[in-house]
Amino acid sequence: MKHTPSSSTGSLRKVTYCIRCFAVMTSGCTMHSVLVTGSASGIGAGLVSELARAGEHVIVSDMKLDDARAVADEIRARGASAEAIELDVTSDASVAAALQAISRPIDVLVNNAGLQHVARLEEFPIAKWDYLLQVMLTGAARLTRAVLPGMRQRKFGRIVNIGSIHSLVASPFKSAYVAAKHGLVGFSKSVALETADTDITINTICPSYVKTPLVDQQIAAQARTRGIPESEVIDRIMLEPMPKHVFIGIDEIAGITAFLVSPAARNITGQMIVVDGGWTAR
Ligand code: NAD
Repeated sequence: MKHTPSSSTGSLRKVTYCIRCFAVMTSGCTMHSVLVTGSASGIGAGLVSELARAGEHVIVSDMKLDDARAVADEIRARGASAEAIELDVTSDASVAAALQAISRPIDVLVNNAGLQHVARLEEFPIAKWDYLLQVMLTGAARLTRAVLPGMRQRKFGRIVNIGSIHSLVASPFKSAYVAAKHGLVGFSKSVALETADTDITINTICPSYVKTPLVDQQIAAQARTRGIPESEVIDRIMLEPMPKHVFIGIDEIAGITAFLVSPAARNITGQMIVVDGGWTAR
């Protein structure tokens, strides 16, 4: 695997770093195999695309196999390395079958699959509430539990959870999502302690709004319920809490993931990496 040089300089002498692994160029840099759940769309699709561009082998996994295949085909068409598998994070059988089908052991797991449902608690169907937790909290635990024995055996592993600004703060009508995303942080801290005896880390990236199909649906839904134009939902409701007043880019999440995988982050574990345009600085 070739390094990708950057033009960074050290304080005493000119040093070239690999922008992918953040290591000094002479220290070696190997290709990882990276499984991203829910990567047929949005953040996950962007993540696999960027990580493959940076030289990783990516496993595009989703309950929507055709969409996952399309993402993997596009990556391979660029000459990068990708495979696609069907994986429903709520099913033990699906996880077992997917891990059997993958061509190589998982070095990096990104727990990304997610969904949203917006309703006042009294009107929130309990089955829907439970499903959101199954996907975003139990699903992350199910996948982590499945890949940990292999990571332990190979004495290396990186687990990156895609949390949310809703891992730190709440919004009305999103009780299941907020509970799942808060829970993910507690889950991650526990597993960080359980894996501290080896080179495995687990961390949670917590972005505020990223413009993906999940957010597009919310913009349309909020415009309908509030009777205001979509531009007002974006400006007044979504971007208003962020002092920087812009959506977070998927490239930012990919860059942070690459950093968490790199040797420079080997002692960062059980943490939240908050990417909120200043939301929680107020
Ligand atoms: P998205 O709707 O574009 O993509 C979500 C993907 O998850 C879809 O491809 C869907 O098929 C898949 N998925 C859903 N249930 C699944 C299951 N049971 N098994 C496997 N795959 C499943 O959404 P997105 O915005 O890209 O969100 C991705 C993650 O990022 C979610 O965890 C979300 O909570 C988180 N997040 C999103 C934002 C944002 O503003 N978009 C902000 C913070 C955090």
